[in-house]
Amino acid sequence: MSDSMQSLKNELVEQAGSMGAVDAKVASREMMEGPPSADPDYVLPGFQSVIAFAVPLGTDFIHDYFGKVTRMAFKKIMYEKYLLCMAISNALAARLQQEGFRSESLSPNGSYRPESGGTKPMEFLVPDFSLRYAAVASGLGAFGWSGNVMVEGHWSAVFLGSTITEAELPSDEPLDKKLCDDCRICTKVCPLEFVQRKETQTVTLGGREYTYSARSHHLRCLLGCGGLNGRSRDRKWSSWATVPYEYPETDDQLVEQYLRALNDPKAKYILPQLGLKKKDQRPEWVLAAGRRSRGVVYRSLENTNPTCCNCLLVCSGPKEKRQELMKLLHSSGVVIRLEDGTEKAVPSEKLKEA
Ligand code: SF4
Ligand code: SF4
Repeated sequence: MSDSMQSLKNELVEQAGSMGAVDAKVASREMMEGPPSADPDYVLPGFQSVIAFAVPLGTDFIHDYFGKVTRMAFKKIMYEKYLLCMAISNALAARLQQEGFRSESLSPNGSYRPESGGTKPMEFLVPDFSLRYAAVASGLGAFGWSGNVMVEGHWSAVFLGSTITEAELPSDEPLDKKLCDDCRICTKVCPLEFVQRKETQTVTLGGREYTYSARSHHLRCLLGCGGLNGRSRDRKWSSWATVPYEYPETDDQLVEQYLRALNDPKAKYILPQLGLKKKDQRPEWVLAAGRRSRGVVYRSLENTNPTCCNCLLVCSGPKEKRQELMKLLHSSGVVIRLEDGTEKAVPSEKLKEA
C-alpha cells in the first residue's frame, strides 16, 4: 500500500473526526464478503474500500425519553445526527472524487432496494447497503446481542454512516474485543419483541462468523419503531407509539395492522414520518428520497418524530444504567393521544381498553 493512500486515509479519518464522528475505519473488498446487503457493489460496482464511521447521540435526553416526559430532545437529535452522517459521508466521497476515485455517499437510514429479499410479502426490507455490516467488518464496532453495533465508549447509542469508494485504502482489522455483556436488557424494552431473548442468528463477514439475537418478522420493528404499535404484550407499558392496536401474536396480524394503519384516522399523526401512505398520497420527501436514494435525509424536522429506538438507546451505559432505564420505561405507563392531538403518558390501570 503506497504512502499516498495511507496519507489519504489519514486525512479522511481526520475529516470525519473533525465533523463529529467518534471514529472511522476502513474495510477492504475481501472484508465485506457476506450477505447480499453487505455487498457494496450494489451501490458502486468495482468498489475497493468502505469507510465506516459512527456519530454519538449523547445520553442527556434518554432519561426523559424513557420516562415518557418528552421526546422532543430526541426529535432534534435524530434529525441533526442523520443530517450529520450524510454530511460526513458526502464530504469523504467528495474528497475521494477530487483525487479521481469514483465514490458514493450513503443515506444513514430509510433507503431500500426496490426488490424484496424476503419470502413473504413485506417480510424484509433490504437496505441499499448495510451500515452495520460495514461497521463490524471494519472494526469500528462489534455486534451487541440486539444486533445493533456497539462502539467502544458509546455502547450502541450511535448512528452509523459509510462512504464506498474504488480507492484501495489501507484497511483496519475487525475488533476481537467483545463489547456486549449479554445482559439481554435490549430484548426487554422492545414492545413488539422483535429482538429475541434466546434464539440466535449467525452472519459471516469476510470469513468471520458473528452471532447475535435472531430477529422476528421485520414488520415488528416497522410497526414498533415506526410508531404504529408500541404497546407491550402485557399492556402495562408502551413506547411513544399511540395507535392502540392489540399485541400482534402472528405474522398475519402484523400485516393486517400495517394495512389497517394506512386508512386509520388514529394513525394520521404517524404516517407522515414514515412516508407509509398509499402510493398516490406519499409525501414529497418520500418521492424525492426514492428518486435519489437519500432515505430519511429528505425528511423534515416536523416529520421526524421518534417513537422507539429503545433497543439502541437502552444500551447507552453500564449495566446498572441499562437496568434503571428499563425499569423507568416499564413503570412510566402507556402513551395515549388526546383528542386535540397531544400525547400523554398514563398508568395502564387507567386505560379503558384491555
Ligand atoms: S443491552 Fe445488554 S445484551 Fe443488549 S446489546 Fe447492550 S450489552 Fe448487549
Ligand atoms: S427500534 Fe424499537 S421496535 Fe425496533 S427492534 Fe428496537 S426496540 Fe424493537
